[in-house]
Amino acid sequence: MNHSSSNYKSWRVVNAVRGEELPRYVVGRPVEPEEIPVIRTPSRGIVEITRGCGRGCRFCNPTLLYFRTIPMDKILREVKVNVVGGERWISLHSEDFLRYGGKGLDTNPEALTKLLNTIVKLPGVEGVSVDFVTASTVVANPNLRRLQISWVFHRGNSQ
Ligand code: SF4
Repeated sequence: MNHSSSNYKSWRVVNAVRGEELPRYVVGRPVEPEEIPVIRTPSRGIVEITRGCGRGCRFCNPTLLYFRTIPMDKILREVKVNVVGGERWISLHSEDFLRYGGKGLDTNPEALTKLLNTIVKLPGVEGVSVDFVTASTVVANPNLRRLQISWVFHRGNSQ
């Protein structure tokens, strides 16, 4: 049985819950950043800021997903969901934090700085950390070496 994107919509998670027959393969199109829904419940402070990578490491799954930056308004809404849920420390999740706001493998230090400055000033946020940074991005982008990110680990709204 061939399940292409054309019949993707006919398959839903509810079919699995009902114990109905499921397609062996489901092929869907990549989701655009604007279509990615905002979380409704806290995620232990982990907030996705990019999705995918595309750098091409042969052993890696995220490389199969093209790189996208999540719109800042969605990121801020997810931070607020976490703060309301009692989280005080926000961990920005990506495959390469330094590529936030950039195109492909390029970087965008201005967008990165704006994102961080905005999040640390949100009421209730006491600290921000990041989970993944790729050294090759720093090597390929000398402009990032001047980026002052040590304040990422500062606490509170004292910036
Ligand atoms: S840079 Fe990291 S996330 Fe990207 S393809 Fe390589 S191993 Fe995967």
